[in-house]
Amino acid sequence: MTTRARFCTSCEAPIFFATTPGDEQMPVEVEPRADGNVHVTFSDPPTARVVGRGQAEGMRAAGIQLYRSHFASCPKANQHRHNPRTTRKGR
Ligand SMILES: [Zn+2]
Repeated sequence: MTTRARFCTSCEAPIFFATTPGDEQMPVEVEPRADGNVHVTFSDPPTARVVGRGQAEGMRAAGIQLYRSHFASCPKANQHRHNPRTTRKGR
């Protein structure tokens, strides 16, 4: 782990921040995920780019590890960001 790990201030999950193409800071989970859709380049600072499903599958097939935005999975994300697209799916 060469990037500076931090911890989510809400749920204390280990994350790091990467810069998106839109020059925003995205909290990314430190462990690569089999269902991840964020491609991280570990430069200084690290950069993150969300990829489409087909592209993600191609990258995984090529052995490229993908990560997941912590925005998508933080159990307390609604305290960070009010997202009107959050539905009751699965409840
Ligand atoms: Zn969190």
